[in-house]
Amino acid sequence: MGDLLAPPNTLEVLLGNEAIARGALEGGLNVAAAYPGTPSTEIGEALSVAAKKLGIYFEWSSNEKVAAEVAIGAAWSGLRSMTMMKHVGFNVAADAIFTLTYAGLTGAMVIVSADDPHCHSSQNEQDNRHYSEAAGLPMLEPSNVQEAKDFTKEAMELSYRYKIPFMIRTTTRVNHQRGPVKLGEITAKPSVGTFEPPEPDRYLQVGAIARKHHIELLKKLRDIQEISGNYARIEGPQDAEIGIVTSGVSYAHVKDALRLSGLEARVLKLGMTFPLPERTIGDFLRSVNTAFIVEELDPFLELRIRAIAKDHAPDLEILGKLTGHMPQFHEYTVRTVLEGLSKAFGVKSPIDFAEIDRRSLSIASKVPPRPPILCPACPHRSAGYALRRAAGRAVFMGDIGCYALLFQPPFKVEHVTHAMGSSIGIANGVSLSTHQDVIALIGDSTFFHAGIPALINAVHNRRKMTVVIMDNRTTAMTGHQSHPGVPYDAIGREAPSVDLEALVKAIGANYVKVVDPFDHKETEKAFREALKSEGVSVVITRRECALLTVRNLRAQGRRIIPYKVNPERCTYCRVCINTFACPAFIDKGSSVEIDPAVCFGCGACVQICPYEAIEPQDGSLNWKEEGLGV
Ligand code: SF4
Ligand code: SF4
Repeated sequence: MGDLLAPPNTLEVLLGNEAIARGALEGGLNVAAAYPGTPSTEIGEALSVAAKKLGIYFEWSSNEKVAAEVAIGAAWSGLRSMTMMKHVGFNVAADAIFTLTYAGLTGAMVIVSADDPHCHSSQNEQDNRHYSEAAGLPMLEPSNVQEAKDFTKEAMELSYRYKIPFMIRTTTRVNHQRGPVKLGEITAKPSVGTFEPPEPDRYLQVGAIARKHHIELLKKLRDIQEISGNYARIEGPQDAEIGIVTSGVSYAHVKDALRLSGLEARVLKLGMTFPLPERTIGDFLRSVNTAFIVEELDPFLELRIRAIAKDHAPDLEILGKLTGHMPQFHEYTVRTVLEGLSKAFGVKSPIDFAEIDRRSLSIASKVPPRPPILCPACPHRSAGYALRRAAGRAVFMGDIGCYALLFQPPFKVEHVTHAMGSSIGIANGVSLSTHQDVIALIGDSTFFHAGIPALINAVHNRRKMTVVIMDNRTTAMTGHQSHPGVPYDAIGREAPSVDLEALVKAIGANYVKVVDPFDHKETEKAFREALKSEGVSVVITRRECALLTVRNLRAQGRRIIPYKVNPERCTYCRVCINTFACPAFIDKGSSVEIDPAVCFGCGACVQICPYEAIEPQDGSLNWKEEGLGV
């Protein structure tokens, strides 16, 4: 991590997400709240450190809507706030945000939407620029790390000036690139606001009031459009016939593609992409013979630029996604842009991509496939193992978390991965529609995020289903952030934890059992009982994420001694590989070994070997027997 609190006027190498956090600190941030989600998570990670040092407020909220509402409450109390989320998290927060643009603010608020073209770590490629227009949410799109910092600070200032939230929309390559950033002064400080609406009905969005506020919002957006051109710049030769319009990280790809190809083109780089600077774009379109639009995912700019061209340059040729010159899917690279320019203008690429493809395919064919796998000692593997044995014929509704990897053999206990909390929600629908055994798998953080209302629905509507809450005591997939079920908060202070067992009992689940998934027999028994019971049954498989256990053991100075396979006892039945699949097992062709460099020394595999061939070495721990990680 770069030094987020380095002094002004220094040049610091920051991650894009750290730069966003710094921009908010320079913009006078008082309160920030978020739910973790790649590629936005490091903004919160950076702020959790800064918050502790500066005394400002940061929390990991239970979901994105709650995080947005925390930030709204602060901005309505006159403070400066920020909330940040991955693109699909915006769907959760959208309900609160759409009404917020009507209501306006007394303080300031920045909403970061970190989009993930290419689904690097997401279930879809949605383009959240549409949200800006649909919600009336002014949007800035940084292209690099410096802009990530500058635009966030600027968004905070603009939000304060216009009394409306501003959106920073990024994509993975802006969030996760690292680069030098010239720093400004940090003005963030702890502050207490006052909730004092500027008019009595300012925050009451009912009928006549909401209608009035909608008109005000449109007026604000027209005012903001007047300054939108300030965030645009034109580069390249004045007399070039080709004009490229771009924004965000696509701008960087365009610059590289032009440099490599030697093509002469003027580039209009847009910084504020809603509302668009119509005059600036119109003037630019009139100055070129062909416009080429470069943007990832949907033709958001292209459609709007075509509309602007109708008034300003009706005969102009506009090329992009809609003309088939650029793809409407996946992440762009310099290659994508070069290939688009080649299609549009016959530019000869200086790079032989076909040859690169041929070489990389030949290398790839020699490398063993490495699909993502659960870590050694992962408690989800043990839960998946027991589920397979107890309920192999059931249908399994999965959710968003590490346990989604249980869709793979040998477990195959995930038929669905859809959206946060959907496992229980969709299980409601499948259980009422079929006679099959239905099991919903959900992690602890995801359960707090969006699982609770679906469980309430299941109980109230007399569903017959089993819910497995895979409680690994953290939000593991995004890097171990806190959630309401753990006894510490986002900046490491002690905090009250919500009792999952009491919660599901209070909701009215018929059968509730907490098990240690490393106790395979007990876990399997609990699943069998749960499936036999009437109504909604809940099994909580509780064991902390293996990475946390290993970290704690190391912090205590305890050594991790791997297990080993006793060749005298091993029959090469392959039960360990075929049913448990810890990545530490190596199939040697006629024998099985444990890779000491991979094994976490947990002992969970001992129980599954029918020949008792898996043994500890001198000093090996047995996590279950020693009560470690529970
Ligand atoms: S399950 Fe036991 S006996 Fe069978 S291959 Fe693995 S270590 Fe050997
Ligand atoms: S002890 Fe067994 S289950 Fe645990 S990490 Fe090592 S090989 Fe995997």
